[in-house]
Amino acid sequence: MGSVTPFYASGAQTFGLESFDVRSPRHGELVATVSVPTAEQVEQAVTDLDSVRGELQRTSAGERASVLDHVSRELGRRRDEVAHLIALENGKPRQWALAEVDRGASTFRWAAEEARRFSGEVQRLDTEPGGNGRIALVRRFPRGPVLAITPFNFPLNLVAHKLAPAIAVGAPVLVKPAPATPLTALLLAEIIAETDWPARALSVLTVPNERMPELVADPRLPVVSFTGSGPVGWSIRDRTPRKHVSLELGGNAAVVVDRDWADLDTAARRIALFATYQAGQSCISVQRVIVHRDVAEAFIPALQAAVREIASRTMDPERDVVGPVINDAAAERIESWVAEAVAEGADLLVGGPRRGRLVQPTLLRDVPRHTALGSEEVFGPVLTVTTASSVEDAFSQVNDSRYGLQVGVFTQSMETAFTAHRELEVGGVVIGDVPSYRADQTPYGGWKESGVGREGVAAAMEDLTEPRVMILTGM
Ligand code: NAD
Repeated sequence: MGSVTPFYASGAQTFGLESFDVRSPRHGELVATVSVPTAEQVEQAVTDLDSVRGELQRTSAGERASVLDHVSRELGRRRDEVAHLIALENGKPRQWALAEVDRGASTFRWAAEEARRFSGEVQRLDTEPGGNGRIALVRRFPRGPVLAITPFNFPLNLVAHKLAPAIAVGAPVLVKPAPATPLTALLLAEIIAETDWPARALSVLTVPNERMPELVADPRLPVVSFTGSGPVGWSIRDRTPRKHVSLELGGNAAVVVDRDWADLDTAARRIALFATYQAGQSCISVQRVIVHRDVAEAFIPALQAAVREIASRTMDPERDVVGPVINDAAAERIESWVAEAVAEGADLLVGGPRRGRLVQPTLLRDVPRHTALGSEEVFGPVLTVTTASSVEDAFSQVNDSRYGLQVGVFTQSMETAFTAHRELEVGGVVIGDVPSYRADQTPYGGWKESGVGREGVAAAMEDLTEPRVMILTGM
């Protein structure tokens, strides 16, 4: 290879003094050597973000929307190239990388629409005597430059979820991509640099983790938007009580199969796929399956067959939906969690030895709650199944978790659907399907230890801005 990939500082490709390697999780080959910014280069980028705030506020909604539309179109035009890069650095099967690019293009397109709509509101004040002759104009303005920290599992989309709303409201952004997968974020910066978006308004900096606490503490970055693991996320929030911090963290998403669900085979296939796709490395991958005992005898063998069918395809790169986990440490951790669950009495229904970073799709029954697999986020192609004696029992099992991101409920009953919506301690309930669905139109985020704040384009635009009121007198 030889050449070093630059990072993006204030819209320009830039080199530092040091570098690190990005290796493919699939075969371990060197994908790129990426430059690391020096402390001075980071300082300059933050100064630039701070100094461009006024200029960005003067950009029109039309200008912001046209930048976002350009990114959307370019992602569409360069679909294969971007998907190739995602698959290379992250290891996910090509079909999921293509799906990620399509989704990224739609996030930018939707953000362009929201940018055009983002207007504020007019409130009448003459309902009280002091307000006679007055009206209020409520508009939202950016809280300030955003530090956007992203994980490895969706190298494009999790950057898009932060960057697109920030451009839509006119906020400067410093993106800190995951060290395992920085290349797609750097490509995105290249696409934005083709537009008229002010160069100082975007930096994508490959800052090493050990230097992140200093950056997180910088008062010129009043907003921290973090997606990643709980321990890192909560430590950021604890260390910066005066900042506006949003956290999109992990979970151990559950799906409930109620006894009224007729098509158990389809449910089993959907669940098996969305527990194992891209090696279970999605924050809303199915981890816990809770089935009503009246249909368990029919459903569990169907689920077993569906997981086996996915496992049988893992040797064929054209048909595989699983792929490797991100690194050896993740593979070893997942293997040890499965071993612990089995040692503590769980039944291993499907599974087998891993081949390096390729972890076999694994299904276990009755995993004890006190084990790591029974209580933590596995973030691997592993799912567990238990039975419930009633819908109430199933919902209480769903809520028996420190996490609460999303849940799926296979039910035909509107009453059960509304009960789920009311009772389940999660950010989203998917009725009639798996929990692994996220749309840009809706707020998205977690309860309990799964996070604080909401993404989804419009929700993130609110999160990145503060309302400011102007009272007009003499109306
Ligand atoms: P991670 O927490 O290890 O890393 C996330 C980011 O934080 C990376 O960019 C990393 O370099 C950075 N980081 C590490 N140490 C830091 C520090 N001290 N200060 C500031 N930043 C630091 O997470 P990961 O392993 O890359 O991602 C997997 C996790 O992300 C899983 O828990 C998954 O559930 C979660 N996730 C959540 C969502 C969501 O929307 N809720 C989406 C995807 C992934």
